[in-house]
Amino acid sequence: MTDSFDAIVVGAGPGGSAAAYHLARRGRRVLAVDKSRFPREKVCGDGLTPRAVRSLEAMGVPTWEPEWARVQGLRIVGGGTVIELPWPELSAWPGYGLARTRYDFDALLLDRARAAGAEVWEETEVSAAIVEGGAVCGVVASRDGAREEVRAPVVIAADGASSRLGLSLGGRRLPARPMGVAARAYYRSPRSKDTYFESYLELWRGRDLLPGYGWIFPLAGGMVNVGLGLLNTSKHFGNVDYRRLLDTWVASLPAEWGLVPENRVGRARGGPLPMGLNRAPVARPGLMLVGDAAGAVNPFNGEGIAYALETAEMAAEVAEDALRAGDPRELRAYPERLREAYEGYYILGRAFVRLIGHGAVMRGLTRYGLPRRRLMEFALKILANLTEPRDGDASDRLINGLCRIAPALNTVVGA
Ligand SMILES: Cc1cc2nc3c(=O)[nH]c(=O)nc-3n(C[C@H](O)[C@H](O)[C@H](O)COP(=O)(O)OP(=O)(O)OC[C@H]3O[C@@H](n4cnc5c(N)ncnc54)[C@H](O)[C@@H]3O)c2cc1C
Repeated sequence: MTDSFDAIVVGAGPGGSAAAYHLARRGRRVLAVDKSRFPREKVCGDGLTPRAVRSLEAMGVPTWEPEWARVQGLRIVGGGTVIELPWPELSAWPGYGLARTRYDFDALLLDRARAAGAEVWEETEVSAAIVEGGAVCGVVASRDGAREEVRAPVVIAADGASSRLGLSLGGRRLPARPMGVAARAYYRSPRSKDTYFESYLELWRGRDLLPGYGWIFPLAGGMVNVGLGLLNTSKHFGNVDYRRLLDTWVASLPAEWGLVPENRVGRARGGPLPMGLNRAPVARPGLMLVGDAAGAVNPFNGEGIAYALETAEMAAEVAEDALRAGDPRELRAYPERLREAYEGYYILGRAFVRLIGHGAVMRGLTRYGLPRRRLMEFALKILANLTEPRDGDASDRLINGLCRIAPALNTVVGA
């Protein structure tokens, strides 16, 4: 049995590494464990909006190296229109996005946690939480074929969409909240140096327009990440062969991208997108859930890395306060922090997801919305959750205002 840590972080994806980093930086003894050995592949679009970049900058991650693709905005294709939208210019957020394979990115973040002082055990699988007196106080882990109990007053579950640790303690998925599924593949492409994320709003299955979007994200090294994501508000959700849909859609893309089978690198892979904080509870005595484990993916755009990084930082701050106060089991401040940060926005996101589940709404938005630049600039701010928190322009004030009143509206109309 080992008991020399202030906190254990289960899972070393972006959420786990960020949580370990922020606690280690505060001088805490942190252990991060992951069942994989890094670098390891993770199915993802590899795209980072300015929202994610801000968290990376806060962790001192060098973002100017040539291994990153730098992205200046979003190009949207749909309804016969193409519109190029640079990221909004805001003082609260950086003006650029990034892309990098998760193979590199996750290893890099884990190294940041290590450099900050976190201890890291790779190839270590957590099978259960240790619970005493109603509080989580450690985990049971297997490494090198041996079973080990590791104890700490705070455990942070960053174990991804499976959320196994939370579920093993009676946590559940909130079925009324959205889920997505996405699939991606890598291609060598002559357009890999494009500086925009390209997204396609029209995904067809026969004559049905599906709620979701396809993307082509540039990467360093002559590659692009190509994928698509769908929402569970579609009647097709449960019966789509995502990899087949991806192949059919890729074959319809402009030839200049060079997305032909000979340029494909590796096989297509898919995974779930747990959205809108669709897991509960997100905290219990001694335990907090962050990132995908908490279902924190943004329902508007399927972005999860920014929210894994942010929820991890919040969990680390709450853990630090609780440890300092000598009451590490008392983590009720964490759900409160999540509520303050996301409740209104995610209520709007859930309403949006329900709306675009209707093919006619999706068609109308694509046909009438896309040609209107001002409207699309507004849409980019809301989809990417990028507004000036204070003293912004009219669109910032409108979005922030909507987020503020959404919880009250939700109570009235049950959105
Ligand atoms: C196809 C696809 C495309 C996507 N594209 C984007 C995108 O472009 N941009 C974006 O922001 N988001 C994207 N997402 C979402 C994003 O991948 C996730 O939101 C993000 O990875 C969440 O990070 P996390 O740290 O919470 O979990 P994860 O990255 O899933 O990390 C969880 C870690 O926990 C470890 N683990 C799990 N169980 C155990 C255990 N029992 N013991 C030890 N270790 C364990 C795993 O090995 C893993 O390393 C996409 C998702 C999919 C499926």
